[in-house]
Amino acid sequence: MTRTNQHLTREKMMKLHKRVNLRNILDVFEETRKNAPSHFSLDSRYGEPIVFSEKRMGRPYDNSNNSAKNDSCAICEGKTTTVLSYGKSINDSFPFSNENMFPAIIPNGISLAGPLSELVLKMLGTDSHDSAKGVHLLHWPSNYHIDIHQMKRDEVKNMLMNIVECENIFENIDPTTYKYSTLIKNTGKVAGGSLEHGHFQEVISNLPPGYVIDDYIGNCLGIKNPPQIMRESMKGKNPSTHVVERHGNFSIVSPYNAQKPLEQRIICNEPGRNRLADFEEGELGDLACALIWSTRGLYHAMPAMGKEFAYNMEINQSPLGEFSIDIFPATQTRAGLEMLGYNICQMTPKKSANILKLARSVYSSHPFDKYEISPEKSSGFKEKANRDHDMFFG
Ligand SMILES: [Zn+2]
Repeated sequence: MTRTNQHLTREKMMKLHKRVNLRNILDVFEETRKNAPSHFSLDSRYGEPIVFSEKRMGRPYDNSNNSAKNDSCAICEGKTTTVLSYGKSINDSFPFSNENMFPAIIPNGISLAGPLSELVLKMLGTDSHDSAKGVHLLHWPSNYHIDIHQMKRDEVKNMLMNIVECENIFENIDPTTYKYSTLIKNTGKVAGGSLEHGHFQEVISNLPPGYVIDDYIGNCLGIKNPPQIMRESMKGKNPSTHVVERHGNFSIVSPYNAQKPLEQRIICNEPGRNRLADFEEGELGDLACALIWSTRGLYHAMPAMGKEFAYNMEINQSPLGEFSIDIFPATQTRAGLEMLGYNICQMTPKKSANILKLARSVYSSHPFDKYEISPEKSSGFKEKANRDHDMFFG
């Protein structure tokens, strides 16, 4: 992923931008759903929904090895959906948000069923089996082909502010329907990233994402910590040796319950913060730094491990729990008893933290406008990691 000349111009973007109101936004989304029908089954083994959406097979995989497709980007060419909001421009780079042309979920008319449904309905505060309603959005950090690990603090802060603005549009339409957010990101082919153009995805829906349901059910059954004290328990279980670095009220930690090497969690040390919308502008700037450095650490350390730079990210924001961000790098497949049993993580959290700190110290002055790692720095990093942290980087 490099900053090429290929980009969505402001002029093209403005043509796609529509000031949205309740009437036209819901019409726009209804039309997309008609074009991409889907249905779901509830998996009785695990109680999780499986969505069947054949339309998604036709997505443009410009991150694939098909070089003919790599030459063009539908987003940059403006062949995409209505732009709902956009942010300030810095060095000709601006964030924007639009609708996903291939909505993964939120088929109309699904209802909750199965053994967990009564608990979930109680949580939702309703006694009827509500249909799922909501929207599937794309948030682009930049109109250029760059991603957050290559960006500057104010650029990523702009992107976070734009996400909040977009969330506000839907909250203002109907706070009950647009209550829960599933905000995720993947970067790199092996993490499932299908587009070269960096992006986040967000589903805003009347149904909570799985982790919120898990927290609630766990809470009811008394088998997990209530989400309200998750931050405290995370702090308690992560000794200072697991802290990679701090940015204002945020800490990047190598979590005690990591399932993969170099896994990271960004936690907020200030109580009472549930969602991005709860943060002031200065805090969003600190969070931007945490996002840049957690992903930049992976960008430097993963190739040294012989791994492609690739990760999945989950931004946990819900009315019920504390704000946090999980970053799962593609450093190993889930392992343990033929991938079906308990997890086996191939690096201790303490060593992961040390490697990430080392990446920070070696590369802190790395000029990211060059978008490449110098061979000298790369070999210096491997040498130090092998010598000081008992690593086996080749
Ligand atoms: Zn593009």
